[in-house]
Amino acid sequence: MGLDGPVDLCDAGGPLSTPVQESLNWNTPQRKESTMSRKIHIFDTTLRDGEQVPGAKLNRRQKLEIAEQLARLGVDVIEAGFPCSSPEDLKAVQTVAEQVKGPVIAGLARAVQQDIDIAWEAVKKAERPRIHVFLGSSDIHLQKKLRRDRESALHQAVEAVKYAKKYCEDVEYSTEDASRSDFDYLCRVIEACIQAGATVINVPDTVGYALPEQYGELIRNLREKVPALDKVILSVHCHNDLGLAVANSLAAVRNGAEQVECTINGVGERAGNASLEEIVMAIRTRESFFDAHTTLNTKEIYRTSRMVSRLMNIPVQPNKAIVGSNAFAHSSGIHQDGILKDRSTYEIIRPEDVGIKAHSLVLTARSGRAALRHRLEELGYELTDEQFQKVHKRFLNVADRKKEISSQDLATIVEIELTKVSETYTFDSLQTMSGNTMQPLASVTLIKDDEKITDAATGNGPVNAVFNCIERIVGESGELRDYDLKAVTTGKDALGEAMVRVEIRGAIYSGIGTSPDVIEASARAYVNAFNRFFANGNG
Ligand SMILES: [Zn+2]
Repeated sequence: MGLDGPVDLCDAGGPLSTPVQESLNWNTPQRKESTMSRKIHIFDTTLRDGEQVPGAKLNRRQKLEIAEQLARLGVDVIEAGFPCSSPEDLKAVQTVAEQVKGPVIAGLARAVQQDIDIAWEAVKKAERPRIHVFLGSSDIHLQKKLRRDRESALHQAVEAVKYAKKYCEDVEYSTEDASRSDFDYLCRVIEACIQAGATVINVPDTVGYALPEQYGELIRNLREKVPALDKVILSVHCHNDLGLAVANSLAAVRNGAEQVECTINGVGERAGNASLEEIVMAIRTRESFFDAHTTLNTKEIYRTSRMVSRLMNIPVQPNKAIVGSNAFAHSSGIHQDGILKDRSTYEIIRPEDVGIKAHSLVLTARSGRAALRHRLEELGYELTDEQFQKVHKRFLNVADRKKEISSQDLATIVEIELTKVSETYTFDSLQTMSGNTMQPLASVTLIKDDEKITDAATGNGPVNAVFNCIERIVGESGELRDYDLKAVTTGKDALGEAMVRVEIRGAIYSGIGTSPDVIEASARAYVNAFNRFFANGNG
């Protein structure tokens, strides 16, 4: 269980030289509105489509935290949820609508009055509310799911748009499963919905079936056949079942789409949605090719990615484009040599442009509060005094065991301190004994209601023994479904991050724990999973 971390992302400093191609706009500051290139609207659905991932359910406070970060990132639209799916989701969308300023706040609704009523209830207090209505348009969906004919579905779509329009000026209509729909029928539905008042028309590849060339052609043909689309925003929404969500979205942008629906880290049901950071950085890096731009503050991308990964308990694969821990790590000798001579030899995006910063100032246990505060501000954290106290305490704790605290250590500390679930049990301490000639033994102490509870257990390994202890203390048994351990920072004294998925009474709960000690990180993650179980009203 070594912690051989990836190459340090924060290592990317040094002067930059002139880009070798005109499309490598390295030195261009954050893009401003241009009269020449088209603006592509970024519609983030991490909180709706992304949240449908099993085990990634967010509570209201977590949703708000992500929504506030998405506003800092500068997305144009936040789809905050599907309000009629549960009273809790309704409340969460309401909270986001009331508190998050800047982006349009959208709520999803099926094309029925009751859903639309609830969606409006959820978003009506937003600065800029949007109701997003959807209905299937493919024959497969109409016949097999909705059991109805094309004409009555078209009528229902029009009625739904008109009904939503009574509440809200901004109404988006999604032709669900558009990529498998009859083209002429699709055109008729779109035309009728625009006539009924829709301001955005979305053409989703709901099942991830489309191929880039074909999907681009669909968008181009729609633009040709339905001139009314010029009056509204044409949107796309792609799923990644064939690994083509980003490619399809970009093909659509090339052929006239003006809004892209996507999620941070590409999270979403099944193989996920189109990944926001890949779409945004592809458009930015190849701006002249697309003749288009977005108005996102790309320097917030990395922080948003980390936050979503942590709050949803979905790790980011190391080789993930843009935000993976190896995305900017050059390991081959030839590449390293090139990078040292001139970064543009092998690097098309500067790590700084997505918010991965290079730093010279080193924080240690002796760094004062002012230095810590300064670094936190530099990393973009705006903490209240109370939050700062918590972070400072944890910082001292980690600094005691680690010589240097890097920016990534700090980001991890902040995220852990500020995104806690309510703790029924708090981790206190542990001891383990193991070796190749004895049965591993562990003793763990947890705190519940100010009372320390200690128990001991054996296991087939030290981590397993610790998990058995925790189960004895909380009085519930869990089945470990997934266990992942990685270094979130580098060096011999790196912080280790453990993520677990535990099945408890038939449902999956995720947990995360961080510590320089891998067994402690695992214990914290396991306790965190049980805390989620208890926070869900169990126990
Ligand atoms: Zn979707």
